[in-house]
Amino acid sequence: MVKPLIQTWDTKKCTGCMSDFPVHKDWQTQPLQCGPCRLITRKFVDAVEYLLRESCVISHPETKKVLLKLVQDASALYRKKKLDGEDPRRAWRSVERKLAHTIWSDKTLRKIVLLTIKELKIQAHGDARADKRNQKRSARLLNGTRRWSG
Ligand SMILES: [Zn+2]
Repeated sequence: MVKPLIQTWDTKKCTGCMSDFPVHKDWQTQPLQCGPCRLITRKFVDAVEYLLRESCVISHPETKKVLLKLVQDASALYRKKKLDGEDPRRAWRSVERKLAHTIWSDKTLRKIVLLTIKELKIQAHGDARADKRNQKRSARLLNGTRRWSG
């Protein structure tokens, strides 16, 4: 017998942004945070920048075009907020959240960004090689590609 949807999904309050988000009752580990918050925690912007720079990673040119457009829009929005006198850090946080929501709600983008985060081992703490790689990448991003986020 197929269970009605309402019985398999719970609603939880995100510890990051306090919004309600769905969690599946069968999940072994119940996340504390909603999808966009988890993307932000896991430095998804690094993954997005990596995806745009390493042209071979995305196999579909359409997907890359969509991602590039998102980043360009985010960049424009961030610059506008700064020009309007908004605190840069606050402006960036709201742009970052908006981008996280957009990516999370797009199945294709969500999948590829999550996969990239995993592959880059952005979260790998304690692994000396991964740490070094992360440091190098961060330095590179700060130097060059932060043009749109900084
Ligand atoms: Zn959240």
